[in-house]
Amino acid sequence: LSDRLDSAWKKLRGQDKISQSNIQEALREVRRALLEADVNLQVVKDFITEVEAKAQGAEVISGVRPDQQFIKIVYDELLGVMGEENVPLAEATTAPTIVLMAGLQGTGKTTATAKLALHLRKINRSCMMVATDVYRPAAIDQLKTLGKQIEVPVFDMGSDANPVEIARQGVERAKAEGIDTVIIDTAGRLQIDQDMMGELARIKETVQPHEILLVVDAMTGQEAASLTRTFHEQIGITGAILTKMDGDSRGGAALSVRRISGQPIKFIGVGEKVEALQPFYPDRMASRILGMGDVLTLVEKAQEEIDFADAEKMQEKILSAKFDFTDFLKQMRLLKNMGSLGGIMKMLPGMNKLTDDQLKQGETQLKRCEAMINSMTHKERRDPDLLASSPSRRKRVASGSGYKEPDVTKLVSDFQRMRTMMQQMTQGGGFPGMPGGSG
Ligand code: GDP
Ligand code: MG
Repeated sequence: LSDRLDSAWKKLRGQDKISQSNIQEALREVRRALLEADVNLQVVKDFITEVEAKAQGAEVISGVRPDQQFIKIVYDELLGVMGEENVPLAEATTAPTIVLMAGLQGTGKTTATAKLALHLRKINRSCMMVATDVYRPAAIDQLKTLGKQIEVPVFDMGSDANPVEIARQGVERAKAEGIDTVIIDTAGRLQIDQDMMGELARIKETVQPHEILLVVDAMTGQEAASLTRTFHEQIGITGAILTKMDGDSRGGAALSVRRISGQPIKFIGVGEKVEALQPFYPDRMASRILGMGDVLTLVEKAQEEIDFADAEKMQEKILSAKFDFTDFLKQMRLLKNMGSLGGIMKMLPGMNKLTDDQLKQGETQLKRCEAMINSMTHKERRDPDLLASSPSRRKRVASGSGYKEPDVTKLVSDFQRMRTMMQQMTQGGGFPGMPGGSG
C-alpha cells in the first residue's frame, strides 16, 4: 500500500489524526478570532499552545475536516477554562454577606453595585449599599440616587470621613438592621496606584468580605490581563463582573480575567440601566469570543455521522455483505463533506495524473449515482439483488432518475463488484473502486 493511498483510506474511515499541518489554517483563524475579541496576547499564546498539544493526534471524525474538528476542540477547551456553569454570588452562613467592589474609575462599579442590589432584592435578599468613594464629590450622590430608584438603603458618612471607617460602620449598621447583603462601593483611580490598592486592602482587612468582585470594563481589551493580575495579587479577588458587554466587545477580557485569576466571572453588565445585569454563562461567552457560530453548527452536525462512520461498524457491515445502497449514499455524502473529492481521488494510484476535466467527470458520476439511488425504493436500496434480477424495477428507477436502463444496470453490477472488492479489501487491505464509472 502506498502512503498516499493509506492516508486516503484512513481519511475515509475517519482514522486520520489531527496534526500541525492539517490545522494550520484553523490555528490562524482561532488566533485571529481571540485577538479580535481582545483576549490578551500572552493569554492567547498560552491557550493555543495548550489546545494544540491536546489536539495533536486526536482521531479525526469521518466527514469532518480536521480543522473544523480542531475548532470544536478549541471551543470545548474555552468552555473548560471559563467554567462549565454560572457561579452564583457567595452567601455567608451568618448574615450579612459582605461584598466588596473593586476596579478602576469609570468601569461601572457604582452602577454594578446598584444592579447587584436590585438583582438580590428581586430574589428576596435584603440589601444595603455603602458609599466609600469620598474623592469625587458626585459619587455619593450618584449612589444615593440609584438607591432611591431601586428602593435600597445607602449608608454614607459624607465626603470628609475615612473610607475604611465608612465601610466598617456600614457593615455594623447592616448587621444591626438584619440586612442579608451589604455591598461596598469603592473609589477607583484612572490607573492602578498604591493609594487605591492600600485603601482597598485596609477595607478588606477591616470588614473581611465574603466576596471581592473586580469590575472590568469589557472594552478594556489587552490591559484586562495586567489589571486582573495586579488586583488579584494585591487584594485577592473572588470573582468579576464584566461591564459594557452591550457594546461591540466580543468579551475577550472574560478569558483573560479567568485565566489569570482563576476566579469566575459572575455577572455581565449589558447597559446603563439598573436592570441591565445578567448572570454570566460560559457557553454563550465562548461562542461570542470565537464568533464562529456557523463552524460550531457544522461540526456538531458532522458528529452525528460518527456513528455511521465508525470504522468498526463499517467493517462489520461490509464483511456481512450488509453494505447496501443506503450506506453507499451516506458514504458518498461523507466524501462530499470532506471537501474536494478530486483531492482524494488524486491520491489513488494511477489517478494522480487525472486532469481537472476527468475529475469533474468523477463528480458528475457521483451525482448520477445519487440520482439513481434516490429513485430506488428502500427495499431496493437494502437489497441490490432485487434490481439485478428485475428489468422492470431497473426501468422504473431509470425513468424516475432521468437515466437509461443500462445506466442502472451498470450501477447495480458495479456496486455488487465493489462490495465484493471491499470484502476482500477489509480482509487483505486495499481501496474500493467507484461504481457507476463509465469505463
Ligand atoms: P465607576 O467609576 O466604576 O463607579 O463607574 P460608574 O458606575 O459611574 O459608570 C461609569 C459609566 O459607565 C456610566 O456612564 C455608566 O452609565 C456606564 N456603564 C456602567 N455599566 C455599563 C454597562 O454595562 N453598559 C453601558 N453601556 N454603560 C455602562
Ligand atoms: Mg463610582
